[in-house]
Order: sequence, then structure tokens, then C-alpha cells
Amino acid sequence: MEQPTAASAPPSRGLVLIVEDERAIADVQRIYLSRAGFGVHVETTGQGGLDRIRGLRPVAVVLDVGLPDIDGIEVCRRLRARNDWTPIIFVTARDDEVDMLLGLELGADDYMTKPFSPRELVTRLKTVLRRSDGIPRRGVLRAGPVTLDPEARTAAVDGSPVELTAREFDVLAYLMASPGRVFSREQLLSAVWGQADYSAGRTVDVHIAQLRSKLGPGNPLRTRRGVGYSADAEGS
Ligand code: CA
Repeated sequence: MEQPTAASAPPSRGLVLIVEDERAIADVQRIYLSRAGFGVHVETTGQGGLDRIRGLRPVAVVLDVGLPDIDGIEVCRRLRARNDWTPIIFVTARDDEVDMLLGLELGADDYMTKPFSPRELVTRLKTVLRRSDGIPRRGVLRAGPVTLDPEARTAAVDGSPVELTAREFDVLAYLMASPGRVFSREQLLSAVWGQADYSAGRTVDVHIAQLRSKLGPGNPLRTRRGVGYSADAEGS
């Protein structure tokens, strides 16, 4: 469904969910956010956004107000009602809508009026994430003999450095950041490659195989047959 994005900086800031029914706008947002180092997943309906947010666990949602099914306001309400406080940046078509939205006290984090500069969106998003502490600032991740430093982007086995490609590193860091949690190939594609395409699932398998080979028998990667992959918990 989603077209692969052009080569860009490795997504290391986490995944942003865009809910936007205008394809051209979503494409521009996707390109700029990818360049800024975010993974991006696009849904074109409110229901699609609600369905996917649980599994994708984005660091933020860029939410269009005018959607063909459930509008952005209702999407936000339902998320907050189920105690999901993922930062939301509302995108509205009209200036006067912002006043209305502010009056509703929906618990959104920022508002932008179309048309807006995509650079401005990136700036606002970074501000929102700093405020909400959404950009992961994790310390060193450990699982058995494997250590991973997300800041320095280095990996080691029993203290000896291991050379990983940017994608291999991102896959491993993403899995180890949520120990024991199983992610589908599609979730990993969305989070690390910034695309959701079932046909590309093999790409994930290849990277997992390469990681296992490089990290050796003590690697923390686990296959859940028919579901996806996980990494062992710290110290297990
Ligand atoms: Ca719209």
C-alpha cells in the first residue's frame, strides 16, 4: 500500500503517525519528517489511525481535523478516553478552527493551520517531543552479552565492538528498547524503515538473520513463529 520512501537519515527519533486524507499533504509531511530522522506511517482515515496507534506506538501523531470518517477531534477524544496520551499535533484547515479546538480542551499538544511549512511541522514536533520527553533518551541497553548504546550508536558483545549497519542497529535498538515485546514485521518496517508494506517483510527477516550472525549465539533476538520478533529482557 505505502510506497517506499527515498533514502534518508536512519529513523532513530521514533515513529510518527500521520493521519491525513489528502495524499499530497501526507507525502510532503512524510518526506520532511523522514529527513528529520523520524520513521513515518500514514493512515488516511480516523478509524485507521485509532486502529494502528496501539500497535505502532508512535512518539507523536500528526492529526488532520477533517477526515472522511471519524474526525480528528473524535479520534483525539477516543485516544484520551482510553488513557493514551501520545502527543498530538492537530492540523486544521481554518484559523478559526484553532480557537474552537482550544476551547474543547482536548489535550492536544499543538495546532497548525493549513497551509503550513513542513519545516515548521518538524520544528513544532521536536518541541512537543522535548516537552513530553517523547524522544527516547535511554541509557545503554543490555541483554545477556549484548550491549547497545543508542546515543553513541555502538554495539558490543562481551565488551567487544560489533560493526552493525544503520538499519541493523535501528532494528536491534527498537526491539531491545521494549524487552520481551513481540513486534510484527510490518511494525518493524513502519518503525525502522518508515514504511508499511507486507511484501517487504522479507527485508526484516534478512536483517534479523544478519544480526544473529554478527551477535553470535548469545544474541537476544527471538522469533515468534507467525507473529514476528522480540528481544529478551535485560538480565534474562
Ligand atoms: Ca482533510
